Amino acid sequence: MIDPFGRSVTYLRVSVTDRCDFRCQYCMAEDMTFLPKAEILSLEELDRLCSAFVRFGIRKLRLTGGEPLVRKNVMGLIESLSRHLATGDLDELTLTTNGTQLRKYAADLTRLGIKRINVSCDTLDPERFAAITRWGRFEQVLDGLAAAKQAGLEVKINAVALRGTNEDEFDRLIEWCGAEGFDLTLIETMPLGEISEHRIDQYLPLSLVRERLRERWTLTDIDYRSSGPARYVRIEETGRRLGFITPLTHNFCESCNRVRLTCAGRLYMCLGQDDEADLRTPLRASESDEPLIAAIHEAIGRKPKGHDFVIDRGRDRPAVARHMSLTGG
Ligand code: SAM
Ligand code: SF4
Repeated sequence: MIDPFGRSVTYLRVSVTDRCDFRCQYCMAEDMTFLPKAEILSLEELDRLCSAFVRFGIRKLRLTGGEPLVRKNVMGLIESLSRHLATGDLDELTLTTNGTQLRKYAADLTRLGIKRINVSCDTLDPERFAAITRWGRFEQVLDGLAAAKQAGLEVKINAVALRGTNEDEFDRLIEWCGAEGFDLTLIETMPLGEISEHRIDQYLPLSLVRERLRERWTLTDIDYRSSGPARYVRIEETGRRLGFITPLTHNFCESCNRVRLTCAGRLYMCLGQDDEADLRTPLRASESDEPLIAAIHEAIGRKPKGHDFVIDRGRDRPAVARHMSLTGG
């Protein structure tokens, strides 16, 4: 799949549910309205859609959400999708999770061929954790991380950089990740969906964070790419990688290889734009995949050049109305 700007689309992120057992302040409103159940694709339909994408050239599949591991029978979907790893049609099947269900599922994930996962954790302070996630318990995530390690999963921690909330904790997060053997990625908060705070009050440019970190750590630029948008450095003192996802301070759209599918079968060609394609209708219209393939092809032909994220005082609306939990990270 080649888009109009010559970029090869090889990476599909699938939000398998828009629901979650947390209500992170930067991601969701506390009283979120979720999609009606009738709109949500069955696991069989999700499998059929993902498999069509794999036939069409997708090499990496990331399950996300909402919280992917709270979807009922999600392990059945993972088991079924893992057949594409066995045939070599897929290079990687992975997921982004808040970690709460890892004690239950980590061993099965390894058995099914998942090698590495991203786990979101913005702070190491239990009280802050409860404040950021509103509903989360830090100990449960720590226990999930221990289970992931025991199961042999490689872990990358994702932390959203939040002004005035966790900006004094990055040194500690780096030390902790070094000791645990985790990589770490810092993410700039993106203007997706209405939340209770103004984004500019949360927004912390990572260019600034990087300069601060340089005072304490030796950061060496490296070529490593995980096929996502992060740019990496190696922290010489810990030997671990540190990634920066900087949609605001450094636009990375020129190398974008991704599209995103929601649990309602809508394909977003860019996280930062509203344009989307309905794949559920062609999926349900026929047992043959022909109409679906035509719709995917047409959608890829509409992939935009890039996002237009801006966070400033003058704007009181988010750049994109939908929440991150709908399209996933
Ligand atoms: N529930 C899972 C989790 O938290 O890892 C997967 C879905 S979550 C939407 C994926 C990632 O997006 C998380 O790392 C989360 O911190 C990040 N995220 C959510 N809202 C964001 C926003 N407005 N800006 C930047 N990152 C955001
Ligand atoms: Fe849930 Fe992940 Fe959003 Fe937090 S960031 S509310 S864990 S989907």
